[in-house]
Amino acid sequence: MFTRRGFLAATAALSLAPRVAFAEEQADIIIIGAGLSGMNAALILREQGLRPIVLEAGAQVGGRVRTHQTADGPIDVGASQIGRSYARVLDACWRYKLKLIPEDRDLLTFGTHYKGNWIDAASWESNPLNQCVGEERKIAPMMMGSRLVGKYNPLKELDDWLNPAFADQDISLRTLLQRHGHSAQAIELAALSAPGISIDDTSVLRMWQEETRGALDRKFGGPASGQEATKLHPFGEQHRRDLVNGLTSTSNIDGGCHLLPAAMAADLGDAVRLNKQVTAIDLTDTSASVRCADGSRYKARFIISAVPFTLLRNVAISGAPGGAAAKAIAQMPYANTARLYMHVEPFWLEDGLPPSFNSDGPLGMFWAIDNHKGTGTHRAMIVMVGQRAAAISQRDPDQVVPFLVEELARLRPASAGKAKVATYKDWARDPLQRGCGFSLAPGQINSFAREMNQPWQVMHFAGEHTRRSDFGMESAMESGERAALEVLTRAG
Ligand SMILES: Cc1cc2nc3c(=O)[nH]c(=O)nc-3n(C[C@H](O)[C@H](O)[C@H](O)COP(=O)(O)OP(=O)(O)OC[C@H]3O[C@@H](n4cnc5c(N)ncnc54)[C@H](O)[C@@H]3O)c2cc1C
Repeated sequence: MFTRRGFLAATAALSLAPRVAFAEEQADIIIIGAGLSGMNAALILREQGLRPIVLEAGAQVGGRVRTHQTADGPIDVGASQIGRSYARVLDACWRYKLKLIPEDRDLLTFGTHYKGNWIDAASWESNPLNQCVGEERKIAPMMMGSRLVGKYNPLKELDDWLNPAFADQDISLRTLLQRHGHSAQAIELAALSAPGISIDDTSVLRMWQEETRGALDRKFGGPASGQEATKLHPFGEQHRRDLVNGLTSTSNIDGGCHLLPAAMAADLGDAVRLNKQVTAIDLTDTSASVRCADGSRYKARFIISAVPFTLLRNVAISGAPGGAAAKAIAQMPYANTARLYMHVEPFWLEDGLPPSFNSDGPLGMFWAIDNHKGTGTHRAMIVMVGQRAAAISQRDPDQVVPFLVEELARLRPASAGKAKVATYKDWARDPLQRGCGFSLAPGQINSFAREMNQPWQVMHFAGEHTRRSDFGMESAMESGERAALEVLTRAG
């Protein structure tokens, strides 16, 4: 029956509806997200004779592989470092003839600003501010987190973090350190420098996953163990330049890391569709339909979701209940990093303090990058991770950059007027990311992480957050490969 209320509702719905009427498009498989994981899956499936369509919400491909073009040249604000053990990433770089160059972010010497004082690492053990006990006293303040995470890491195999034999270790770093009787100050220092969201919010098994995979990378020609013991900074200082199979220990892509996803997208041609934000997925046991914000619709026998769970949780999914995957989509936390990229005059020559430093304040870390000339301008970065990154995301976005430059000048007055901002990136504020990398809270490995990759009807899961053995870009490639193989096995 026609009613006035029904008519108004119908016209309101029409005015909100997209203007273009799209015919439903069919494909063998729909892949959501054109990051490395989604595009790697698409390339493998296409090679095996299937027709994929990759739907990407953004106007560009690459996701967390992002290069900002600045007046002073390209700056990778997302992934940039390619380890020697990155088999899939290296293979793709060679396939697309991308030029690899040695990592060029050698960091100048580190100092520490702690409780309003500049700390000399060499004499920290006898510093009156050092309230640590026993062996802890010898650990440089901002190395406490990574050292203690490493010290208690029992994992041997890359996927041990998921092994139920370690289920009782699905706890926070604070709990672990308390169990081992660490002092209050060691725990406080670990909180300032541990990886992850915080020492309370990240499972130590998640931290060990990354640590165990990093140790493998170092076996491929990283620093010798003796050299590592002298490190003052968890991210390393000077990169090794010796060549193994033509590669230094860490490589970058000449011209910017975005050239890799750009080459993959060019290879996939019109299978990649930009500006297609998926808003709804309807699943059955034999097919899936997908709708995008612009009204376009797609149907396929399978789907691979290759988007972070921070975004997938905003997509309306209908079908049978989703099990561990649904739990993970709803609950998985994400860590953040925010970084200010600068060019600076070597103000450390003026104040005599170490060029790079860690601080217990809101600025986190200041990395002064060696220009290998001694004089002239240097690249530099303010790097916030963990709780500092979470806090900076809460500030007024227009005030963040001036605040950070002022904070640098407060700690290092000699830097005033000597720092020129190149670009800034806060990954939690990116509407298509909402964080820099997946995390797992204490208890979540036991709760859902082991089973969460099992397909939800015909929807399979890729993305670095579904990794099993790898890390970084390599884990995105690994996950795309795994999801593609799952689909191929089912497609028969
Ligand atoms: C600051 C930073 C530094 C890093 N440094 C390194 C490094 O040096 N070395 C290294 O190996 N790794 C590094 N990484 C990690 C690496 O970038 C990631 O592991 C990898 O790029 C993740 O790829 P992905 O395909 O899993 O996801 P993403 O790259 O996040 O791709 C997901 C895609 O899905 C799209 N999307 C989201 N929602 C929707 C939707 N509803 N519909 C359609 N599309 C959608 C997004 O736009 C995005 O393009 C770094 C990451 C960050 C943030």
